[in-house]
Order: sequence, then C-alpha cells, then structure tokens
Amino acid sequence: MEIYAKTPLSTPLTAKALHEYLEKRSGISIKLVLTENLTTMFSFKRSGNVATLRIQKIFLKANTAILDELVHYIMGRQRTIVNIRHFIKMNTIHFLQEKKLKLNLNPIGKHYNLLDIFNILNAQYFSDTVNAQITWGRRQSNNRTKKRTLGLYNIPQNIIRINPILDTPSVPSYVVHYIVYHEMLHCHVGFIQRNTKRLYHTSTFRQKERLFQDYQKAVAFLEKF
Ligand SMILES: [Zn+2]
Repeated sequence: MEIYAKTPLSTPLTAKALHEYLEKRSGISIKLVLTENLTTMFSFKRSGNVATLRIQKIFLKANTAILDELVHYIMGRQRTIVNIRHFIKMNTIHFLQEKKLKLNLNPIGKHYNLLDIFNILNAQYFSDTVNAQITWGRRQSNNRTKKRTLGLYNIPQNIIRINPILDTPSVPSYVVHYIVYHEMLHCHVGFIQRNTKRLYHTSTFRQKERLFQDYQKAVAFLEKF
C-alpha cells in the first residue's frame, strides 16, 4: 500500500503529454483543465460531444497505473477508484506537510511550553478532542495605544496563537493556562452565525469558560496586567 507514496515525484508529465495519453487510451476527445483546487481533485462531465476533465495538477505526477484507472473511470467502465483515492491521499498529505512547515510553529517558549499546557488542558477539560495546533505568536513592536490580543484562534488555519508577552515568569502559570483554555474553548464550541455576524463569546461560551479552575484568579490578574 506504500507504493504510490514512494513513486518518485521528480519527473512530472507535461500537460500536453498527459492530455495525449488520456485521449489515446480512452479514445475520447477530452477538454483537459488543470486546476490548483485541493478540495475537488477531479471531476468529469460529458455533454454531447464535449467531455471535460478537470483535474488537480498533482496528476501530472501520477504513474500509468493511476492514469489508466482514470481512463477507465472516464470511459464509464470502472466506478471504483481505489488507486486514485490512495494517490490523492498521499499527495495531499505532502501538500499539508509543506503548508505546516511554512506556518513555522514555535510552541516552546523561554518559560512556558504551550504544547504541554495544551495537552494537559485537553485531557483535563476536553477529553482530548481539541485537535488544533498551538504556537507562540511573533513579537510585536511596542505599541501601547493598540489593544493587546493575548490569544487568538485562527479558524481556517486551525491554529492557536498566544502573545509572547505572556512568556515571562512575572505572568503566573495559571494565567497562561487560562488564555490557552479560552482559545481551546473557541475551537471546541465554534461560533453562532447570526445574519452577517459571527458570535463567539456567547452565554454558553462564558458559562464553559468559568469551568476553568483558576478562572477568578486569572481574570483578577489580567485586570491589572
Ligand atoms: Zn475569545
């Protein structure tokens, strides 16, 4: 099952070669559209004499076993696409890993390890169901007029960023835990869409927030911070 993961990705086909291969093997005149789309990897439509195949660029790296399965699929001879699915899965992992590297995660600070805090809270309050990533944010230049954001949960990236001004021994551990807990709660409860507005700090959210064991202490500290 590891074969396609190990298929060398260094010698991709050209779009022209791919097009010719698919037409020759299928005997169908195809309009080929290569896409960057990572959610719909391929789609095939036939209306009258026009057959349109839209496929993700990674298919330029597919071997003939994959391409022949694609040919059988567009010829309507085969509805199961086990090899294609596996190929897509392996290549998507590759994309996601690349993306992850670009995000440059940095959860281990000078004083606080966010990963440890995240894991402890996840077990204690969320039955290990929160699967976001966590990192210290970038240090911002001092701008005292700007309202400080101590933590942020980025939904599309599924990342929690914590402000590095908290990475100091003068901020108690329970405060950092509280900020991380707050952001994890955002991942956990999501939001309510009301017309064009998204509501995050709902009464349900506030109720659950108070379940954090050092809630009062942390809030009191932050009022003077
Ligand atoms: Zn919040």
